Amino acid sequence: ATPTALLVGTGRGAQLGILIRGVEALESTRRVDTIILDKTGTVTTGRMSVVTIVPAAGITEAELLRLAGAVESASEHPLGRAITAAARDRGPLPEVTNFHATAGVGVQGQIDGVPVEIGTGTPPMSLSPTVRLTGAASPTARLSGAGNSSLLADADSHTVRLAGAAGPAAATWVEVRVDGTARGWIALADTVRPTSAAAISSLRRLGLEPMLVTGDAPAVAEAVAAEVGIDQVFAGVLPSGKVDVVKRLQAEGRSVAMVGDGVNDAAALAQSDLGLAMGAGTDVAIQASDLTLVRDDLTAAVDAVRLSRRTLAIIR
Ligand code: ADP
Ligand code: MG
Repeated sequence: ATPTALLVGTGRGAQLGILIRGVEALESTRRVDTIILDKTGTVTTGRMSVVTIVPAAGITEAELLRLAGAVESASEHPLGRAITAAARDRGPLPEVTNFHATAGVGVQGQIDGVPVEIGTGTPPMSLSPTVRLTGAASPTARLSGAGNSSLLADADSHTVRLAGAAGPAAATWVEVRVDGTARGWIALADTVRPTSAAAISSLRRLGLEPMLVTGDAPAVAEAVAAEVGIDQVFAGVLPSGKVDVVKRLQAEGRSVAMVGDGVNDAAALAQSDLGLAMGAGTDVAIQASDLTLVRDDLTAAVDAVRLSRRTLAIIR
C-alpha cells in the first residue's frame, strides 16, 4: 500500500467532510452492492413538527399537548423534541418523574403520580381528521384556510399525506396514553432532504441497491421511499431488528453498506460491511461506523464511496 495515496485520500476526504477510518473502510467501498438507508434523520431532515392534534372525548387539545410535551421534554428523539416545542409555545409544562425512553417504541413518565405514555398509534377512523394546509411547501404550514397543498387523512392507512407540496411526503402519528387509556393522537411531519432523490440515483449508478429501513409505520416509510426512488422498504423495524435486516441481507450473499444517524442505528452500523454515520448523528453511531459523513446529506455518502474507490485504485 502507498501511504501517500491514503493520506491524499483522507486529506481530500476531510475537505469533503468525510472521515475515513482506515484502509479496510476503503476496501469495503469496492465490495458493497447494497446500501441500507435509515429514514429519519438520514433520508429525511429529522426535523419534525406537529401538524395535527386529535384529542379523545373529554380532554382538550391544549391539555393533551401539555401532558405529552412534558413527558417528551426528556426525550432526545426528533418526535419528542417537536412535541415539546409545540407544547412550550402554549405555556409552561408540569414536572415529570420516572421518565423512561424505549428506543424505537416511545417514552413514558409520571405527572402528579399518573403514568403517561407516548408511542406508536393511530386515531380511530371516526376521529381521523381531514386537514388543509395553507399552500406552503413546509409541514409547518398553518392548519387552516385554503391552498394548493392539502394534508389529507388517508382512509386506509391513517397516514396523513401531504399532497402537492415539494418535500414532505407523509406524517407520523403517535398515541398519548394516560393511565393506560388512549387520550389522543398527535401527527408530526418530517421533510425529505432536497438532495436525497438525486443521491439515491447516484448510489444506484455506483452499483449499490438502495433500501429503506425504519421503525416508522409502513405507510409513512413507503411514501418517503416512493418520493426518493427506493423500491425495497423495511418498516416497523425495532432498533434491534435493524441489525437483523443487515444480517439477513448478508446471509443472502450481499455485501451491505448502512447509513444511519442515531443511537438506534449503532448496532446495524457495526454489523454492516461498511457503516456510514451521518453528520449531526450521535457519538455512538459515529463510533460504530467506518466512515463519518460530516455533511448532513446523502450526497456525502456518494462522495465517500467515489473517493474511497478512487483512493484504493491509486494505492493498488
Ligand atoms: P426511525 O427508524 O425512523 O429513525 P425510530 O426507530 O426512532 O424511527 O422510532 C420508531 C417509532 O417509535 C416512531 O415512529 C414512533 O412511533 C415511536 N417513537 C420513538 N420514540 C418516540 C418518542 N420519543 N415519542 C413518541 N414516539 C416515539
Ligand atoms: Mg434515525
